Amino acid sequence: MNNTEPDNNTEKLILKIAKSKIPFFDSNLGDSSHILSVKDVTDSYNKQQIIERNRREIQRILDSSLDVICTIDADGVFDRVSNASVDVFGYPPDELSGRKFLELVYEDDREKTEGIAKLIREGLVVKNFENRYVHRKGHLVSVIWSAQWDNEEQRMYCVARDGKELKETQEKIRESEKRFKSMVQEGSDMIAILDLSGVYTYVSPNFKTFLGYREDELLGKKVKEFIHPRDQEVLSAEFAKLETSRRLNATPYRFRRKDGTWCWVQSVGTNLSEDNAIQGVVVNSVEITDLIETQRALNKSNERFSMLMRAGSESIWDYDLIKEELFLGDGFIRFFNIEPLDLRNNNDLINSKIHPEDLDEILDSFRSAIREEGKREWTAEYRIFNGQGYSYVKDKAIILRNEQDKAYRVIGAIKDVTSERLISEVEQLEKEVMELGMGMAGYVPLDQVLHYYMSGLERLFPGMKTSILRVESGHLYNLASPSLDKEYLEKIHGLKIGPNVGSCGSAAYTRKRVIVSDVLADERWANYLDLATQFSIGACWSQPVFDGESNVIATFANYYEEPKHPTDEETRIFERSSRFSALIITRFQHIDSIQRSNDLYQSVNMVTNDAIYEWDVERDVFYWGEGFYRIFGHESSDQEPDIRLWIENVHEDDRERILNDRKRIIESADEKNAWSHEYRFKKADGTYVYVVDKGTVIRDEIGRPIRMIGAVSDISYRKATEIALRHLNEELGKKVRELASTNNELEQFAFIASHDLQEPLRMVTGFLQQIEKKYNDLLDDKGKMYIQYAVDGAERMKTIILDLLEFSRAGRIKKEDYELIDLNAVIEDVKILLKSSIEENKVKLKVGELPSLMGTSSAYRQVFQNIISNSIKYRKKDESPIINIYAKEEEEGWVLYFEDNGIGINPKYHDKIFEIFQRLHSRESYSGTGIGLAICKKIVENLDGFLEIDSEEERGSTFMMRLPKLKGQEVPVEN
Ligand code: ADP
Repeated sequence: MNNTEPDNNTEKLILKIAKSKIPFFDSNLGDSSHILSVKDVTDSYNKQQIIERNRREIQRILDSSLDVICTIDADGVFDRVSNASVDVFGYPPDELSGRKFLELVYEDDREKTEGIAKLIREGLVVKNFENRYVHRKGHLVSVIWSAQWDNEEQRMYCVARDGKELKETQEKIRESEKRFKSMVQEGSDMIAILDLSGVYTYVSPNFKTFLGYREDELLGKKVKEFIHPRDQEVLSAEFAKLETSRRLNATPYRFRRKDGTWCWVQSVGTNLSEDNAIQGVVVNSVEITDLIETQRALNKSNERFSMLMRAGSESIWDYDLIKEELFLGDGFIRFFNIEPLDLRNNNDLINSKIHPEDLDEILDSFRSAIREEGKREWTAEYRIFNGQGYSYVKDKAIILRNEQDKAYRVIGAIKDVTSERLISEVEQLEKEVMELGMGMAGYVPLDQVLHYYMSGLERLFPGMKTSILRVESGHLYNLASPSLDKEYLEKIHGLKIGPNVGSCGSAAYTRKRVIVSDVLADERWANYLDLATQFSIGACWSQPVFDGESNVIATFANYYEEPKHPTDEETRIFERSSRFSALIITRFQHIDSIQRSNDLYQSVNMVTNDAIYEWDVERDVFYWGEGFYRIFGHESSDQEPDIRLWIENVHEDDRERILNDRKRIIESADEKNAWSHEYRFKKADGTYVYVVDKGTVIRDEIGRPIRMIGAVSDISYRKATEIALRHLNEELGKKVRELASTNNELEQFAFIASHDLQEPLRMVTGFLQQIEKKYNDLLDDKGKMYIQYAVDGAERMKTIILDLLEFSRAGRIKKEDYELIDLNAVIEDVKILLKSSIEENKVKLKVGELPSLMGTSSAYRQVFQNIISNSIKYRKKDESPIINIYAKEEEEGWVLYFEDNGIGINPKYHDKIFEIFQRLHSRESYSGTGIGLAICKKIVENLDGFLEIDSEEERGSTFMMRLPKLKGQEVPVEN
C-alpha cells in the first residue's frame, strides 16, 4: 500500500496500516484476500479535513470491492455501505444508509438474522452466515455474511456477498467430494494408507468387495501379514525404494483374501509422508487374478502357437494389420525354402514369392475379406515359389476383429496341396483322354489321343518329356512322343528290343520297369551314348505296357535332360500313367476294329445296291445307308432318315402287315432274330418298287432287342421277270395242253386211220386180186400191169399205214414198264431178225460189249433194227457193208455208236433225215417211207436220250445214241 500523497500546504502524515484478521473470499483476488484498514495516527492540523479525507479513502477502497462492505450501528441501522450494494441488493449506498437492515431481510429469515446479530453484538465472529434479502426489484437474493462487533466503535463491521456464486462453488465441492468418495468406495482401485512402518492407517471400503475385509479388520495391522511369503521379499525391496522416489509400480503379488485364498494384486505406491494430512504411503491396488490367469493361459496358448509355428505340418503366418507386420512360422523355411525376414519386410517377401498370375487376385480377395463386415475367415488357393518351382497351396486364415468389428490381426495356415492337386489334374486329364478315345467328339485316331494325353502330362510335370513306343514283333516304333526330337525318334525307329537297348528296348525285352537315373552311367545306354549326348538325355524311365493277354504292346517312358531318380510320388504317377496308356491302347485296338468294321460297313453301303439300315431299338433312332438314296431316288439332304419316313413310304396295303410283323419279331420271346419281308416301297418320284427287306435283330445277353440291322433290296426287276415268267408258263402250259390234245388227236387219228384204212385197203387189194384171178384171161398185159400197179400202191399204202401206226405207238411207251435191258441180248435178237439180209449182203457186223440200260426191249430193238437196216440199205454199191457197234461210258451217260461205211449224208440234210416222211432218195434208188429215223428219234427221246448223226457224203455214217446212266434212271424223271 502506498503512502497517500501530502497536500501542498500540509505536513507529513503517518498512517498505520494493518492487515485484517478476517480474510474474505474474493473471486477476483483469490482466497487469501484480507481487508486493509488505515488508521490516522498523526494529529492533523485539520482534524476534520483529515477525517473527511480518510472517509473518502475508505469509501473508495470499499467501493472497489465486489462484496458489500458495510457498518451497522447498535440499533441495527446501516451506517456506511459500499457501492457493491447496488449489485447485490439493487439499492445504492445512500438509499440504505439510515435504514434498519432487518427491514430488507426476507421475513422468513428475520428471526434467525436477529438472533445471530444479537450474538455478534455479544462478541461472536460470524463467518458465512446465510440469509435472504428482498431485492429492490422484489426478488429474493441469498446473501452470505461475515460480521464482527467493534465494541469501541459500537458498530458491526460486515462483509456480504451474493450467496449464489458461493453456493455454486460449494455445490461443486460437494459433488467432487461425492465423486471422490464413490471412487474410493466403489471404484476398482482399493486405496489404503500405510504409515512408514507398513501399518494400515486407512483402507477404502471396497477392500470388502474385493478381498472380503472390513476396514476395522485391516486398520492397525501390518500389511506384511497378508502378503504371500514368496512375494514379500521382492515387494519390501520395491517399497524400500520409496525412500528415494515418490512413486512405485510394484510387481504383482499374491494377497490373502479373508476366506484364505490367494489373489493376485498389483499396486502403485505414492509416498506422501511429507503431507501432514497423510503422513504415509498411499497404496492404490487392483485385483488382477483374472488378468494373471488369462495371461498365463495366453502364454500357454502362445507357447502352443509357437510350437505349431515351428513343428506343424503347415506354414503359419500372423499378420498384424495395425502395425502392418507379418510373422512367418518355421514352416515357410521347411516347406517352401522361404527364409523369413523381419516383421516389416515379410509381407513384401511373401508377395514376391506368390506366382505373379495369382498375386493380384489373392491381394484383392484378402483386402475385401478384411473389409467385409463380420467376416472371420479367408481362404485362398495359389502358387508359391519354393526355390525350384511353384507349389500349389491352400491358405486358410482367421480374421480377428475388435468390438467395432475392425480387423486387427489375421492368422493363417498354408498347406502344400501340390500333390493332391496334381492327382486331381491327372484324373481330369485322364477323363478328357478317355472321352476323346471313346470317340465322344467323333473318331480320333490312337496316336492323336495319346499325343493329347502325353502333352497334358508334360504340362503337369514341367521338364519331363514323355514317349510311347509301339512294340511290334520285337521292334520299337514311335506311337506318341510329343516333345522328343524328331531326329532322335527317327534314329530309334525300328530298333530291335534287347537286354541293353536303352530304357524302352530293355523294358520291352525284360518285361519289367527300367529306371535309368543317369543315362551316361548306365550299361543299358552304353551303346547309345552318342544319342544321349546329342539329344541331351539325362534320365529315362520306361515301363512296359501290356495288353489283356500279357503281351508287351508298347513302352511308356519319361525323359529328363538331367540325371534324375523318381520320387515316390513320381513313381506312383508314372505307374498310373503307363497303366492308363495300356488301357487306352488296348481299348483302342478294340475301338479300331469297330471302326474298321464301321468303315467296312460304310464301303459296303457305298457299293451295294441294297439300302442298309440300322434301327436303334432302345433309343428308337433309324439310320439309313447311302443305298437308300441311290435306290429310292431321295436326295440325301431332303429328309433326315426317320422311322416315320420309312413307314410312310411303305405301300398302304403292305404297311399293317409289315409293322405288325416287325413288332412281333422285336417282341418275340423265343428270340427269333431273322426277319424277311417283301413289300412295296415308294420312290421319290411317287412310284412304287418291290423290295425285299431282310433284317436281323441284335439282342443283349438277356435277350432284350438292342438293334435291328437290315438290308432293303429293290426286287422290281426280279418281280417283273417273275411275273413275265409266270405269264409265259401259263401260256406254255396252255400250249402244252393244246399240243397234248393235238398230239392225242393226231395219235388217235393215226391209230384210227391206220386201223380203219387197212380195212378198205385190204378190200381194194382183195378185189384187185379177185379180178386178176377171175378175169386173168380177159385181161391183156396192159390190164394185168395196171392191176399190178394198183396192188403195189395198196401194198405201199399198207406199209405207210403200218409205219404210221408204229410211229404213233412209239410215243406211248409207259415209264412204268421200264426195266433194265441187256443191250447185248437186244443186238442178238436183231441179228436173228435181219439174218437173211446180213447174209445176203455179206455184212460184216462187229459188236462190242454193250451196257444194260433202263427201257423196254422192243424200244431198243426197234431203234437198233432201223439203224442197222439203214446201214445195210444205204451201202456203197461196190463195197460190202461193215457195221461197227460199240458203247462208250461218259460222265453224263452212255453213248452207243453205230458206224457204217455206206454212202454217207451231206451234213446239210442231217436235221432233215429225222423228220417224218423225209427222204433223200427216190423210191426207185432206195426203198423206204422216210419214217424210220423219225420213229427212232421219238423212241430215244422217250428214253430220255438223244439221237445224233455224224456223217459226210461217201464217207460212211455214224449214228450216236446218248442215253442216261443207269444210276440216274433209278428214279424216273418227270416230264
Ligand atoms: P427210209 O429209209 O425209209 O427212206 P429213213 O427214215 O430210215 O427212211 O431214212 C431217211 C433217209 O435217211 C433215207 O431216205 C436215206 O436217204 C438216209 N439214210 C438213212 N440211213 C442212212 C445210212 N445208213 N446211210 C446213208 N443214208 C441214210
